[in-house]
Amino acid sequence: MEYQKETGATAIYPKEKALEYLALGLTSEAGEVAGKVKKLIRDKKGIMNDADAAAIRAELGDVLWYISELCNLMEMPMHLVAAANLKKLDARKHNNTISGDGDNR
Ligand SMILES: [Mg+2]
Repeated sequence: MEYQKETGATAIYPKEKALEYLALGLTSEAGEVAGKVKKLIRDKKGIMNDADAAAIRAELGDVLWYISELCNLMEMPMHLVAAANLKKLDARKHNNTISGDGDNR
């Protein structure tokens, strides 16, 4: 995936703490997505306009950047992560276990 190759150009952080830095960044950016949604509920009755959607899209891009860099760190192609996730979810749908909890259902 071209995107995954390009994120390395802006990956500026302490490499001796790469795993920790990237995992914290991923959760931080996911929190920024949640924060935007929270404020939609608080301030706008949950109604999203184009500017709100653009702001959330920007944060989703930040999440994607951290996913890409985590994949780079682990030498793992992002398309394989996506494919494995689809395969897992398809199996859950087939087994009627989409609902419920546990990683291995
Ligand atoms: Mg952000």
